Amino acid sequence: MTATPGILHAAAMTAHHHASLHLPVCVRCGRVVRVNADLYDTFERMHWVCFHYEFEHAVGDPDRDPDQACDDPSCPMRARFPESSGH
Ligand SMILES: [Zn+2]
Ligand SMILES: [Zn+2]
Repeated sequence: MTATPGILHAAAMTAHHHASLHLPVCVRCGRVVRVNADLYDTFERMHWVCFHYEFEHAVGDPDRDPDQACDDPSCPMRARFPESSGH
């Protein structure tokens, strides 16, 4: 399935009533991508947050607790646990 600009535009026109029928679906969590639908392909057909946890969230370090903030300044865990970054 490839989301074309035309399909995304149609989704925007009908989002109020049929959002789940037209919005792209995240390949990682299976839920609709609404907020960043225009960046769907950029994020490997995922939510931004799913992309972050899948590829960016210190995924190369097996000793890293995913609840720890990674080095990315925009890491969601930085807001949740501001003291958790680093070791
Ligand atoms: Zn997702
Ligand atoms: Zn992170």
